[in-house]
Amino acid sequence: MKTSFTDFTLDVFEKNADIGGTWFENRYPGCACDVPSHIYTYSFEPKWDWSANYPSSREICEYFSNFADKYGLRGYIKLRHKIVGARWDDDSSEWIIEVLDPHGNIFEKRSDFFISAAGILNSWRWPDIRGLNSFQGHVLHTANWEESVDLIGKRVGLIGNGSSAIQVLPSIQPVTEHVTTFNRNPTWISTPWGEEYRTYSEEEKREFRDKPGALLKLRRDTERGLLVFFPLLLRESQAQKDAVQSVMDEMKRKINDDDLAQKLIPDYPVGCRRLSPGPNYLESLTKSNVTTFYGGIKEVTPTGCVTDDDQEHHFDVLICATGFDTSYRPQFPIVGRNEVDLRREWKDEPRSYLGLAAHGFPNFFMLLGPNNPIGNGPLLICMELTASYIATLMNRWQKQNIRSFDPKKEAVDDFMEQKDLFMQKAVWSSNCKSWYKSGPTGKVTAVWPGSSHHYMETVAQPRYEDYEITYTTTNRFAYLGNGFSQMELNPNLDPVHYIREMDDGRSMFPELMSTFNVKDIGDKLKNVS
Ligand code: NAP
Repeated sequence: MKTSFTDFTLDVFEKNADIGGTWFENRYPGCACDVPSHIYTYSFEPKWDWSANYPSSREICEYFSNFADKYGLRGYIKLRHKIVGARWDDDSSEWIIEVLDPHGNIFEKRSDFFISAAGILNSWRWPDIRGLNSFQGHVLHTANWEESVDLIGKRVGLIGNGSSAIQVLPSIQPVTEHVTTFNRNPTWISTPWGEEYRTYSEEEKREFRDKPGALLKLRRDTERGLLVFFPLLLRESQAQKDAVQSVMDEMKRKINDDDLAQKLIPDYPVGCRRLSPGPNYLESLTKSNVTTFYGGIKEVTPTGCVTDDDQEHHFDVLICATGFDTSYRPQFPIVGRNEVDLRREWKDEPRSYLGLAAHGFPNFFMLLGPNNPIGNGPLLICMELTASYIATLMNRWQKQNIRSFDPKKEAVDDFMEQKDLFMQKAVWSSNCKSWYKSGPTGKVTAVWPGSSHHYMETVAQPRYEDYEITYTTTNRFAYLGNGFSQMELNPNLDPVHYIREMDDGRSMFPELMSTFNVKDIGDKLKNVS
């Protein structure tokens, strides 16, 4: 917003006590990013002093916190403010947003645009197991960690073998008396992308800071390394076959036990579930103070649990690394045109427009909505481009007297059909259990039907023909106004910028530089929440 507009108000409501989202909330032992740090930054905001290639969640949270300070963003953000409802008012063409403040009062905020940046891995989920509340020790969820609980010398039960559990186990195994892990389904455990975990020396950091081009080269090389990942996500590709062979060989080598290997190695394609680099996870499973149970849990008891085979397991602390509600149904009512609630509309399947908008919900956009490139390759640049896409539409709205953008139903239907067609050949739709699929349809709802670059190119330019556009004026060209261009009236712009020595490839009238004088039209971009 800050870089695209001069005339706006922006209210960011954050339910937590500080910014950072997933990196603020996830504080379990071993929590770290599974993408190398130097490419887990904004494309324009490198950080030369990352401590390691896979840094802790705290360090990542600090990066985003420092970013907010550096660019003066905190003034827009209201912490401990939770949105509890949002309703589109067709008469005023505004969103009416209900916000719960830290004192327990609900107030209304009206805005022209409503953007959900709530994320997917946000609403953590207890396992649906009988008797969970009867357990007399501590019950922890990885995404709602209680730092006061001391695990040293304790007997621990750990439910799950997704990315969170894979990071927890190696961290707690050395300090606990015993860990029993409960794994329902096998999962692929890969080595970290590109290189093993390591810290950066002071000398390396100095080089990143001082040697021109050194850090840029590292960032580009690392990002390029991630690009080779996409072809293996196609079921029949040679890259997939090679990945199965190499990850299997590596797992067998680390497990070094045929019986165990048979239980741990899946029969579904690599990447069907999110592929987790698990430094020391497999090694931890082979330690003498770790027992792995393969199968389901029948019930939790006051002192432990009973598994499907009627075996009893006893522990002092139960850690649920059991994931999130990934249905994409909003956590609060979002009511669009004709009183339609998005939670009801998306009950069976999140039917989005390109993962960033929904039919019947005008001027509503999402960052990391359904079918976004969250497992397709580089991610942060895709989020930057989604934000830039939204800003482009807002710019149009501001300059051309637009009342609302509502993606057409047929555009949503076509996108969904094309997405489902692509998914037939992608590994995500094969026989694994994974949060990438959701709802009764079991369709792939989380990831984008293509590579990250494919997403970037798709959203680089809005397809206005996919939107039903309404105007605040009866004449759609009323914005042509008094006939003067902003170039002519704004002393800071050069009206003859197009006279140049040669064709330098620049766009002469870029979208974000308005060409017409909007003074006579009245409204500027007002409020965004
Ligand atoms: P997850 O991948 O959804 O895994 C949840 C685990 O809990 C699964 O193993 C699941 O078993 C098990 N489970 C759920 N209910 C159960 C029950 N009633 N009984 C027994 N087991 C049960 O969740 P997650 O590990 O928190 O990871 C979610 C996502 O967060 C990751 O895929 C990743 O995108 C992100 N993440 C990233 C990082 C990182 O960047 N390093 C770290 C953590 C998380 P089934 O498979 O049998 O259902």
